[in-house]
Amino acid sequence: MEDHPIFNEEHKAIRKSIREFVEKELAPYAEEWEENEEFPSSVFQRMGELGFLGLHMPEEYGGQGGDYVSGIILAEEMMRSNSGGLVMAVGVVTDMVSPLLNKVGSEDIKKRFLAPTLAGEKIGCLGITEPDAGSDVASIRTTAQKDGDNWIINGQKIFITNGNRADYAIIVAREPGSEGPQGVTLFVLETDDPGFSVSRKLDKVGMRSSDTAELAFQDCVVPDANRLGEVGQGFYNIMWELQPERLFGAISSVAGAQRTLDATLLYVKERKQFGRPIFKFQAIRHRLAELATEIEAARQLSYYVASKINMGEFPAKEISMAKLYASRVSFKVADEALQFHGGYGYMMEYPIQRAWRDSRLARIGGGTDEVMLEIISRSL
Ligand SMILES: Cc1cc2nc3c(=O)[nH]c(=O)nc-3n(C[C@H](O)[C@H](O)[C@H](O)COP(=O)(O)OP(=O)(O)OC[C@H]3O[C@@H](n4cnc5c(N)ncnc54)[C@H](O)[C@@H]3O)c2cc1C
Repeated sequence: MEDHPIFNEEHKAIRKSIREFVEKELAPYAEEWEENEEFPSSVFQRMGELGFLGLHMPEEYGGQGGDYVSGIILAEEMMRSNSGGLVMAVGVVTDMVSPLLNKVGSEDIKKRFLAPTLAGEKIGCLGITEPDAGSDVASIRTTAQKDGDNWIINGQKIFITNGNRADYAIIVAREPGSEGPQGVTLFVLETDDPGFSVSRKLDKVGMRSSDTAELAFQDCVVPDANRLGEVGQGFYNIMWELQPERLFGAISSVAGAQRTLDATLLYVKERKQFGRPIFKFQAIRHRLAELATEIEAARQLSYYVASKINMGEFPAKEISMAKLYASRVSFKVADEALQFHGGYGYMMEYPIQRAWRDSRLARIGGGTDEVMLEIISRSL
């Protein structure tokens, strides 16, 4: 909904230039990247050159200095690439890694990591999840032991987006012997450190053009200068980071659902059975009308939350509601849309199957539906 009141003239100009880029330089290659199970890292360089990786980041580090709303335009327009994996990989950089570097990074870290990330010269990833610590972030086991001016990191991370290609990884680790949210600190690890390795590239159901890796750290030596934020504040910093990440998830889910609905409307108006387009059957038309209504409700909730973040507020309850609802709507729309495509919907040559596979992730990544419900229920 480009004419929504949260968007001003400047936002409209940003949207126009991102749309041109996505339609010309990304969408034509989406199919190939999905098949290759990777899009080229040059996409980051190109987006850096165009200034799209730092729309809401400070100008002093190469960002565009725009407001938060300009960032959500990127999430919406990137969905025109028809590659959820690409959108997720870029989102990790723009809405997970960079906001964290900007909020808690030292001046030195911002110069060494944030600035080259916004320029598209370095790619970052964020490692929170571990094999035995998913929803329960406070149960992570990766350790960081202080050793003079360095820290020695040991442990592993799983399901890390961009993990295979990243130049650096922000990881969550704890002081040996500490428990729960206490003793947790963030570090920036350079992936060429001898103790850092990618143990596996993971094979996924959807989002196939993005790389998802398992990472291992064995006596990885990290200088104290690469500590991100205060010692012992890592858990709180990561809880903050999850807020913009979840809204990015909500916004891209809504944009994806809208594209799926639009494509399905074209299909049902053309496909004829029993002598008429299947859109003429009220049973189908009314279900589409319901889906359109749910998409609109998810969009309005997400925009409301975006306007709050724009004012510097991070309302965890409403952000969780937007993430929960938009993710569910997006998968529901893809599932119903596949149904309306009949047997063709189940064929790999029709794009609807990809929307169905890709949209399923939003209910898991960045905090599951159940975790969102838990956060919301705390305020009831
Ligand atoms: C493609 C992909 C990309 C990802 N990218 C990243 C990334 O870049 N960085 C990163 O750190 N992580 C990433 N993740 C990890 C993701 O955030 C986790 O998968 C997610 O948080 C869930 O953790 P889990 O998989 O360990 O599931 P679990 O926590 O084991 O959950 C299993 C089930 O139990 C439910 N459950 C757990 N606790 C409760 C409870 N208290 N009440 C009710 N139900 C509960 C869950 O909702 C879920 O249904 C990615 C995951 C995927 C699949």
